[in-house]
Amino acid sequence: MPRPTTPRTATTQWKRIRTRLIHTRTHQCHHCGTALDPKAKRGEPGAIEIDHLIPYVERPDLAHDPNNLVLSCRPCNLAKGGKPHGQPFQPRAHTLPLPTSQQW
Ligand SMILES: [Zn+2]
Repeated sequence: MPRPTTPRTATTQWKRIRTRLIHTRTHQCHHCGTALDPKAKRGEPGAIEIDHLIPYVERPDLAHDPNNLVLSCRPCNLAKGGKPHGQPFQPRAHTLPLPTSQQW
C-alpha cells in the first residue's frame, strides 16, 4: 500500500531533525536574537521555527542539512519566506500577537 504523501515538515525525518536542532542549539532567533521557548506551541509567541538559510526552493537538496538550518522566530521566518539567500529582509515587529489587527 503506498504511503500517503505528507507535507515536508510532517515526515519522521524532519521531526527528528527539528527535535535535534531544538536540543542542541541556543534557543534564540538566528536573525533577530529573540528568545525562543521550546515549550511554546506553533503560532504562540516565542514558538521555535526552523528556517532554511538557503531557501528550500533554491536548494531542496539542503532541506535536511543541519548546516543550512537555524532556529528562527515566526516573524523572521515569515518575513524571510522564500527570499533568495543573502537578500536582506526586514524582520517584522515582535509585538505579537496581533491576530485581529487591521493595520495593513
Ligand atoms: Zn527573529
